[in-house]
Amino acid sequence: MPTYKAPTRDLQFVLHDVLGVDDVYTSLPEFEEVSPDLIDAILEQGAKFCEDVLAPLNESGDEEGCQWTPEGVKTPAGFAQAYAQYVEGGWPSLAADVEYGGQGMPNTLGLCMSELTGTANWAWSMYPGLSHGAIKTLEEHGSEEQKQRYLTRLISGEWTGTMCLTEPHCGTDLGLLRTKAVRNDDGSFSLHGTKIFISAGEHDMAENIVHIVIARIEGAPEGTKGISLFVVPKVNVNEDGTLGDRNALNCASIESKMGIKASATCVMNFDGAKGYLIGPENRGLNCMFTFMNAARLGTAVQGLCHAELAYQGAFNYARERLAMRSLTGPKNPDGPADPILVHPDVRRMLLTQRAIAEGSRAFLFFLALQGDIIRAGNEEQAKQADNLMALLTPIAKAFVTELGFEAANHGVQVLGGHGYIREWGMEQIVRDARIALLYEGTTGVQAMDLIGRKVLGSGGKLLMDFTAIMDEFCQGEHPEQVAGYISTVSALKDEWLTLSLSIGEKAMQNADEAGAASVDYLMYSGYVVLAYFWAQLASTAARLLDDPARAADADFMRAKLMTAEFYFKRMLPRAQGHKLAIEGGAEPLMQMPEALFAVS
Ligand SMILES: Cc1cc2nc3c(=O)[nH]c(=O)nc-3n(C[C@H](O)[C@H](O)[C@H](O)COP(=O)(O)OP(=O)(O)OC[C@H]3O[C@@H](n4cnc5c(N)ncnc54)[C@H](O)[C@@H]3O)c2cc1C
Repeated sequence: MPTYKAPTRDLQFVLHDVLGVDDVYTSLPEFEEVSPDLIDAILEQGAKFCEDVLAPLNESGDEEGCQWTPEGVKTPAGFAQAYAQYVEGGWPSLAADVEYGGQGMPNTLGLCMSELTGTANWAWSMYPGLSHGAIKTLEEHGSEEQKQRYLTRLISGEWTGTMCLTEPHCGTDLGLLRTKAVRNDDGSFSLHGTKIFISAGEHDMAENIVHIVIARIEGAPEGTKGISLFVVPKVNVNEDGTLGDRNALNCASIESKMGIKASATCVMNFDGAKGYLIGPENRGLNCMFTFMNAARLGTAVQGLCHAELAYQGAFNYARERLAMRSLTGPKNPDGPADPILVHPDVRRMLLTQRAIAEGSRAFLFFLALQGDIIRAGNEEQAKQADNLMALLTPIAKAFVTELGFEAANHGVQVLGGHGYIREWGMEQIVRDARIALLYEGTTGVQAMDLIGRKVLGSGGKLLMDFTAIMDEFCQGEHPEQVAGYISTVSALKDEWLTLSLSIGEKAMQNADEAGAASVDYLMYSGYVVLAYFWAQLASTAARLLDDPARAADADFMRAKLMTAEFYFKRMLPRAQGHKLAIEGGAEPLMQMPEALFAVS
């Protein structure tokens, strides 16, 4: 497994120089005390914990995996201790509500910690990651009593949380769910049913687990209109906050799976477990939609994490491994061969990983900042930020995780046969990265959300709002060196609008046209969005390269500019392939009758 080094300088560059978070926070009263020094100190502490405590457990956690026992699920050696240190360091409460014990820091800092923990050890980071979903649900929709009873203990990290949505017969289409909630005389409900694939459903890292469960109250309508949301503790909580008896739920088994083996993926049986309604009856899915963007951003970051880790491992190998001579003459004449870093194709893979990691970092932290503006801005600012998040989140979730998986694969390829061997850790990254394309809504589902609900569903408004921001950026002042990127982005935003319109027109004749275009459209959109962020990174780097006060960062800025050039010349052309595929239309997908699929 590559030794993880937190990319602190790149995070600082994105936050302070590119996104200008310091000015944003000065303008938002809730965050006015969040100074650049405070941000850097948190980053430094977080990086230290992740490098020293979590990263060393990544490979051993994968080897050992989780074990199911009748007494409960055992996590790999060191996991529970690392979690205790995480709690002691106050990390679970970093960006949580001050009123319930949180530190009230911006979401952007929460995402920094998600990136650092996730790159160091994604499987471990699933445990606090799932708590985050439970915290958001209770913060937004819990009653005051539920907040005092459960939220405070989740925020302190004493207890962890889960999100129990999926059932054996349904994951994407939750309207089909069968878990039943029966009303009790005391106002509580008894839950009956089976949930599968529940991350962190059972483990030995905390004394209680707070399950957020969706179920149908007896007599409620079929489909999505009859789904309600419940808080269901593993151990019942007494009036005075002490722990009572075990609730009627258990983990029947854990899945044996491709990757993230140290994250317990549980089958949970609810056998009349006592649960308490969160929010209004039959509005469970609507309640969940309110924080869906934050949850999806939390999964999008997995693509960035795995691109970063795979890059670090591949680069370290490529500069040491000797094979053949450079095509333009020996670069290591005293050695028996040149390091593989000299070969153009190895560079293609490394620069692809790097362009994915650094471009995605700018993109995802921009979204996290929108989350801060939604939380602390005025009504108009919050509305604009919310619209941006609505459009860009499905792109972030699906595009960044697809590219993160590509980057992980390049990591194996750069190491040649050794990439396929466990001891180097690169194959683990591929196995761990694969799930990100599936959970929290598959790529196909995100693509339908983008084209259907967000672009066509808003009559193009959300897209036009964002392209107006791109346009404003292009109209601004930029160093001469990046003028070409700016005109490319400007042309692409127009092409994006035209392409969207043409899909909309075709879809009015035949609804399958939208579905047929969807994933290519999402990928096309992703490359355009990343071009916009790479143009920002390049423009900032070119400006700072001329700044004597930043002379110490000159190599960093040069590397950024060269990676930008790689992105524009060697990756962005992929967008045109997706455009051509979209123009191929629905017929090549839909003409084959089911019977012919069976003919070989
Ligand atoms: C390791 C792991 C951890 C997980 N953690 C959790 C968790 O903590 N909590 C939880 O509730 N769930 C969790 N899940 C479940 C996960 O969210 C679901 O597996 C996922 O949402 C997909 O649902 P499904 O497996 O039922 O696939 P299906 O819904 O059956 O989809 C199968 C395929 O059909 C496609 N498809 C379906 N409908 C459409 C459509 N309308 N248009 C286009 N394509 C479509 C999908 O994209 C997919 O490719 C986890 C899963 C795994 C494997």
